[in-house]
Amino acid sequence: MMSVDPRIQQFKQMAEADPNNELGHFSLGKALLEAGQFAEAMVSLDRVIQLKPTMSKAYQLFGEAAAGAEQKDKAVEVVTKGVAVADKQGDVMPRDSMIKLLRDWGAAVPEIAQDTAPKAVSSGNGSSKEGFSCARCGRPDQQLEKPPFKGALGVTLADNICQGCWQEWIPMGTKVINELGLSLSSPTGQEAYDQYMVEFLQIDGK
Ligand SMILES: [Zn+2]
Repeated sequence: MMSVDPRIQQFKQMAEADPNNELGHFSLGKALLEAGQFAEAMVSLDRVIQLKPTMSKAYQLFGEAAAGAEQKDKAVEVVTKGVAVADKQGDVMPRDSMIKLLRDWGAAVPEIAQDTAPKAVSSGNGSSKEGFSCARCGRPDQQLEKPPFKGALGVTLADNICQGCWQEWIPMGTKVINELGLSLSSPTGQEAYDQYMVEFLQIDGK
């Protein structure tokens, strides 16, 4: 694993190379949050929300950064909005994480429309293992049928990620390769690429 600082450098590079690519700002904001650089994390995550207002996870991380920066009112405001966004999108996991944050902060929890995980959207080949829910979007259906590539990470993906989220990653992965000039035939290029994939699909720690 790389230590935090080179990661932040790399994510800064990507965010600057393509200022309108929300993934660069998202990865940077998350790394800054993990490094305890809360004010800077808020700037990056605010940018994500402006670029992609439907990316519910960004509201959650922004709230955590704002709370870290002791801007509690701002944290509550953004996370309350984030709960509504996540609820509308069917992003069950970020929604529930944000509800928990609001409770921890002693703030009011907004009413949510969907009380349970969204129903399986049936579009043919959606067979999933019992108890499967996608690590990124929380949907219980359309689990990847087989690892998309060889190795442990491929198996982790097949265990945790739905086909829809995988399809969202593919064009983003191409962007990452092009913008960072990554060569997947080199170990460092492959490592950086895998790291972005793990960030995007939210399978870190799985
Ligand atoms: Zn998914």
